[in-house]
Amino acid sequence: MKLCSACMLGIECRYDGKAKPVPKVLKLAKKEVLIPICPEQLGGLPTPRVVQELQGCSGEDVLDGMGRVLNKNGEDVTEQFIKGAYEVLKIAKLFGIKEAILKQRSPSCGYGEIYDGSFSGRVVKGNGVTAALLKRNGIKVISEEEL
Ligand code: SF4
Repeated sequence: MKLCSACMLGIECRYDGKAKPVPKVLKLAKKEVLIPICPEQLGGLPTPRVVQELQGCSGEDVLDGMGRVLNKNGEDVTEQFIKGAYEVLKIAKLFGIKEAILKQRSPSCGYGEIYDGSFSGRVVKGNGVTAALLKRNGIKVISEEEL
């Protein structure tokens, strides 16, 4: 049993109100239980929502109170991102989860790569807020690209 970014399982939870199904993730879901999670929805953000990015910081910085997440309108959504990450951690603990498959480059789910905060599509090394919290709590995180 693993956690999995819900959008990759066909759930329409992305900022644009759409899903981002990933064939190899859907194939895996036929063989083992993948628990769909969307930290941004769990943090109380609406769907659809204004696109958001970490502002030149990592998910770890946000958890440590040293970074922020803003949406493209300049509104601060840091609190919702932290809440969503801790709600996902609760689910992980509830089911004794040891591994999560998370969507690359998302400010919540991204693992290894995230957008740089300029809303220009530029990618930098780093983890999203939920990926960082899961990793800190001993849960192995992989992206769909590593699957
Ligand atoms: Fe998908 Fe994660 Fe973004 Fe939710 S927060 S839409 S699960 S990448």
